[in-house]
Amino acid sequence: MAPNNNLTAILYGIEDLRLENLEIPKIKDEEVLLEMDCVGICGSDVHYLVHGRIGDFIVEKPMIIGHEASGVVKKLGKNVKNLAVGDRVAIEPGVPCRMCEFCKTGKYNLCPDIVFCATPPYDGNLRRFYAHAADFCFKLPDHVTMEEGALLEPLSVGVHTCRRAEIQLGDIVMILGAGPIGLVSLLTAKEMGATKVIILDLIQSRLDVAKELGADYTIAIQKNDSEGELVKRIHSLLGAQPNKSLDCSGAEATNRLGLLATKSGGVFVIVGNGPPEVKVPMVGSVCREVDIRGVFRYANDYPAALALVASGKANVKRLVTHHFDITETADAFKASRYGTDGAIKVMIHCQPRNKNN
Ligand code: NAD
Ligand code: ZN
Repeated sequence: MAPNNNLTAILYGIEDLRLENLEIPKIKDEEVLLEMDCVGICGSDVHYLVHGRIGDFIVEKPMIIGHEASGVVKKLGKNVKNLAVGDRVAIEPGVPCRMCEFCKTGKYNLCPDIVFCATPPYDGNLRRFYAHAADFCFKLPDHVTMEEGALLEPLSVGVHTCRRAEIQLGDIVMILGAGPIGLVSLLTAKEMGATKVIILDLIQSRLDVAKELGADYTIAIQKNDSEGELVKRIHSLLGAQPNKSLDCSGAEATNRLGLLATKSGGVFVIVGNGPPEVKVPMVGSVCREVDIRGVFRYANDYPAALALVASGKANVKRLVTHHFDITETADAFKASRYGTDGAIKVMIHCQPRNKNN
């Protein structure tokens, strides 16, 4: 039997994450009540636990954590037409205002009034029951698991990143960083037509997973490797220069490497968040017309992410290395934070495992 309490993971402040039983939320007319199933832990969740803030987003009052999630519809608001009770759904965690210039032009990820799960001051969804806008829930086909549903969140970042890079048939792609975001970008780039992908990281075990997922070449970077030598190794392994590069790490070192190694006239997309200010060899790259593009989450990317998974083309499940019950949330955060036993994606289950697959 599924537990009927609303056990909830609340971040009170730095190093202070508690489990409490809250009231089951009431829904608005355009919302559905969801019985939560899987919630993946993201680097940002860990960052809020450890530092209490990301840039200007500061945890100033207790905040429910979690935003990479899936659940089952339990109740419908009276205006909801796109879903039925019992539907298994992936939850797109940011609900924009739908009124501003950005929303109206389809770039709703840039909406200044977006309400995004577990970005202060808004609550997330690591809890047993949660209310969400029905039009930001995506019904999963029967053969797509709840775990895969939760993984559509990071995968959507990969889809958005590759769309920003305009990846197409024949592209030669360099990915910097083989964490969850580097790996989902790899899966997406391959499906969008990249013919050669090289991926770099400091951690060999992550590169091994990247190989399994289709990377053509990997480079394990050592902390004191010379930048010039690395650029040469990248070009020589590929037998060419990457015309699209994706920085999925955000370190100053990878910002620099991306600018230096990307082919003239190519595109360098930065998705990783590093220090707010960095020293980079800008002039040399802009004089070679390397386009630098940013990424902020995703907009209209969930449907493609779902299609990738439903068609069997993106093995996102390979990213999940650890499973915990919601009652073990503290241990789940430890595994994610310290990368215990090669942790990549840590999944928390709010219901007994595999209740809905
Ligand atoms: P992660 O920390 O698990 O992965 C980053 C990887 O980069 C790690 O494997 C790390 O070993 C590697 N790395 C660090 N320094 C490196 C170097 N010098 N050279 C090569 N590799 C190096 O994080 P993640 O969950 O994969 O997310 C990646 C980044 O993307 C994070 O900065 C995260 O905050 C950011 N992110 C941004 C968005 C967005 O909307 N822009 C969305 C999600 C995540
Ligand atoms: Zn808006």
